[in-house]
Amino acid sequence: MQSRPALPASTDVLVVGCGPAGSATATWLARAGREVTVLDAATFPRDKTCGDGLTPRAMAEVDRLGLGTWARDRITIQGLDLRGFGHERRVPWPAGDHGGTGSAVRRTVFDDRLRQTAVEAGAVVHDGARVTGVEVGSTGGDDDKAIRAVQVGDTRISCRTLVVADGVRSPVGKMLGRAWHRDSVYAVAARSYVASDRHDHPWIGSDLELRDDAGAIQPGYGWVFPLGDGEVNLGVGALATAARPANVAVKELLKHYARIVHDSWALAGEPRAITSALLPMGGAVSGVAGRNWAAVGDAAACVNPLNGEGIDYALEGGRLLAELICSGPGPASTGTDLTRAWPELLRATYGESFAIARDAAHLLTFPQFLPFAGPIGMRSQTLMTAAVRCMSNTVADSDRDVVARGWRAAGSIARRLDRRPLFAD
Ligand SMILES: Cc1cc2nc3c(=O)[nH]c(=O)nc-3n(C[C@H](O)[C@H](O)[C@H](O)COP(=O)(O)OP(=O)(O)OC[C@H]3O[C@@H](n4cnc5c(N)ncnc54)[C@H](O)[C@@H]3O)c2cc1C
Repeated sequence: MQSRPALPASTDVLVVGCGPAGSATATWLARAGREVTVLDAATFPRDKTCGDGLTPRAMAEVDRLGLGTWARDRITIQGLDLRGFGHERRVPWPAGDHGGTGSAVRRTVFDDRLRQTAVEAGAVVHDGARVTGVEVGSTGGDDDKAIRAVQVGDTRISCRTLVVADGVRSPVGKMLGRAWHRDSVYAVAARSYVASDRHDHPWIGSDLELRDDAGAIQPGYGWVFPLGDGEVNLGVGALATAARPANVAVKELLKHYARIVHDSWALAGEPRAITSALLPMGGAVSGVAGRNWAAVGDAAACVNPLNGEGIDYALEGGRLLAELICSGPGPASTGTDLTRAWPELLRATYGESFAIARDAAHLLTFPQFLPFAGPIGMRSQTLMTAAVRCMSNTVADSDRDVVARGWRAAGSIARRLDRRPLFAD
């Protein structure tokens, strides 16, 4: 058996988690010349419960990382085939700043490729290395609250900067005081893989009228994402809040949904590898940064409340965090103070879009809303084109049309009315 390389005693930047957020942060830091060590508890290639869908926003980051051709060669997705409330509509991904095409790559493959990209950039990655403790400085002065080191079992690794990219449960974030607020909207979702003769169809299926086997409508959607490798990723997601928890057995709902789309997707078997997970969304967490550490990706609840996509924000957040870390003094000093700088940057980047998406998703958790609004929306190609653009957060800052102006204005009102600011301190 091959022995694992020894963990270092110290490093400049230590990244916990080698999912999209951790790999992107590590890649950009290493490309900027920083010494980066990445630790992940899992052994790669590892699976992650996900729909595997890459929206144009995600593909813009995949392009920046140099993996755009690799992903599009697997499958290029042109847009969505929407269904529900007696209508079917084909809506292409919005053209524009984000490029207008998507893809879908199963996470065992995608995350391994991202991990390799970080290694190629110069980061040192150790998998099978679970962080079990964090040491906070106590030498006095301004650095009192700085992270000194992390613990991996018996091994201590000291670091100047810590990046917490440890996913939805964020065990290391919790040690540092990161808290998730379930009074804001969140999702419960399940995915599976199914063999399909339409595995290379270049449009993703999205069923907006998701009913359980008793016929009750669920505040969410069912998806079929073609992977181009013989299978599709088939899943369901439902929105919830602490006041209105999702009243659904999500894995049973998935099996029911698979029966509904069996013929239209030419499914050639039963759903396999069914897994489910919760998704904190729209920045509904507090305590995402300290003196020399910051949480990114799912650990910072950077997930779109309207469609559950988080890979784009994980990749984008990783790049933004790396830029912020590099904007300060070099590794010889104590570096940028991230305590306020990181949540402020997150709010400046996502504040408006997450606030309005959170409010819209919140409305969907009221049982009367979807049966009322769904049929109105699906009647109009123009409305659904605008909805897809807003839901996929592909409205660019430079866009000046009516939809873009309306979305931004609604976002800024929603932000002002928010009871708890996103990424609260
Ligand atoms: C059912 C479902 C469907 C989804 N579908 C989509 C979709 O189609 N498109 C999309 O864009 N998003 C989707 N998402 C969201 C997406 O999966 C996440 O937003 C994304 O994985 C976030 O990446 P991350 O790097 O923050 O976290 P992760 O990918 O979860 O990576 C975190 C890593 O941290 C490691 N780790 C955890 N604890 C420790 C520790 N103590 N020490 C060391 N390592 C540790 C883990 O092993 C893991 O590898 C979906 C989510 C769910 C639940």
